[in-house]
Amino acid sequence: MSVCVCGILSLQLAFAYSSFQAERNLLEKQVNEAFASAFEAVRNDRDEAILDDLRQLVSDPTFIEITSRVNPVYGTTVFTMKELQPPFKGQTQLSLSIETFPEKVEPITPKARQAFIDHIVKNARNDLKNGYVFYYTQKLGDSLSKAKYEVPIDTAMIGERFRNGLGKAGLPTRFRFAAVAPNDGFKTKPIDLSLKTNAAPKLLYAVFPDPDAVVFERIKWILAGSFVLMSVAVVCFGYTLKVMLSQQKLSAVKDDFIHNMTHELHTPLASLTVTAESLRKFQHDATARETYLDIILLQAQRLGALTAEILETARAGKVGNREKQTIVVSDLLKKAMAAFPCDAVAVEDNVGDLEISGDANSLFRMLTNLIDNGLKYNPGPGAPLLVKADVSGKKLLLEVSDNGPGIPEAEKTQIFDAFYRIGTGNRHDVKGYGLGLYFVKEVVRKHNGKISVHDNENKGTTFRIAIAL
Ligand code: ADP
Repeated sequence: MSVCVCGILSLQLAFAYSSFQAERNLLEKQVNEAFASAFEAVRNDRDEAILDDLRQLVSDPTFIEITSRVNPVYGTTVFTMKELQPPFKGQTQLSLSIETFPEKVEPITPKARQAFIDHIVKNARNDLKNGYVFYYTQKLGDSLSKAKYEVPIDTAMIGERFRNGLGKAGLPTRFRFAAVAPNDGFKTKPIDLSLKTNAAPKLLYAVFPDPDAVVFERIKWILAGSFVLMSVAVVCFGYTLKVMLSQQKLSAVKDDFIHNMTHELHTPLASLTVTAESLRKFQHDATARETYLDIILLQAQRLGALTAEILETARAGKVGNREKQTIVVSDLLKKAMAAFPCDAVAVEDNVGDLEISGDANSLFRMLTNLIDNGLKYNPGPGAPLLVKADVSGKKLLLEVSDNGPGIPEAEKTQIFDAFYRIGTGNRHDVKGYGLGLYFVKEVVRKHNGKISVHDNENKGTTFRIAIAL
């Protein structure tokens, strides 16, 4: 079973670990995508701004003159764009045909002019996307090149876009930028901010300080489920183990009881057999016969007492069902004391003429069991055993304190179990079957009371019973 539980725990741990890894990979992927698309968006915006400037320049009739004529050979419209204030060097004009404009237009119309400007802007857009600037004319090329290659990409804009993207996807928005790959936290794949195609890369990383906390937050319910399952497995295992151990202990305790009982029965029975055989085989005089008959009677009484004790204990469960009588507590105490030598037991009776309702017989046996134990387990002569009766609040308190060896802390609850004996098997010097305290506990319970066991102030044990009045 432990293998099975270990298996379940290992599987759960493996599951939790792989969930963590999968979630972390997903987080990295999402963050990388958000970073790349933030960069892409900023670059597009920047290109569009450059193209807006280009459109304005091309559309400015004081700067560029756009004309058209029909090519006599091919019959197509040829557009010419010419700078009006050309610089000293470089290309100042360009002629081209446009496939998407099949009409023949000479001289140029506003519609054809617009189609030409759109065509130029469209081509320039593709060029920018591919990372270069085409010189349609020298001045246009210079202007495009300046905007494209000399104005740096705004990292603050990337940061803003990135933060928005992360927020929308429910990802962590606490990050910093780094130009060099850092050793701490989690870093994104870098983006290249260099403006020219063949220039040295100018890398930018986004760094997240504590991605694991985010991953844990995202899979907290999976982990909690896993934890609950593991706890259930451990609790079930613990409970089963406890049941198994208590079964084992019960069986050991029962074996011990049978052993003790056999021992107790064997001695009087052997004595009875030998005595009876002797009476039958030999002719004894009257005195000897009397002695033998006394032995038979004594042993029969011992057996009777033994069976009575066991029967009484077996009846303990029925205590409360018997008809209850009114009992004067002081009388009960006196009756119990009378069963023991008066110098062995002292009484402190503070209850006056208090009466309780209960089963007198069982309460009497309850007290005598406790006193009997106190005397039985006290090896040497000591101070007399003390029986105290008090009233506290609405409770009758009974205490039996001895000066014996005491009861180890670990066994203080177990001694009330049926058949339980401390140091079972080795205590044949002190006779018993482990039923006395079980009987006491049952009687107390049936009288709506509670019993507890404590160390006596100096030495020994105090049994304390509180019965509701
Ligand atoms: P038993 O028949 O063995 O006396 P009990 O149920 O009366 O059975 O007691 C259970 C165990 O508790 C005993 O075996 C004994 O070891 C321990 N015990 C009971 N009373 C005392 C006491 N007054 N002092 C020390 N040990 C005690």
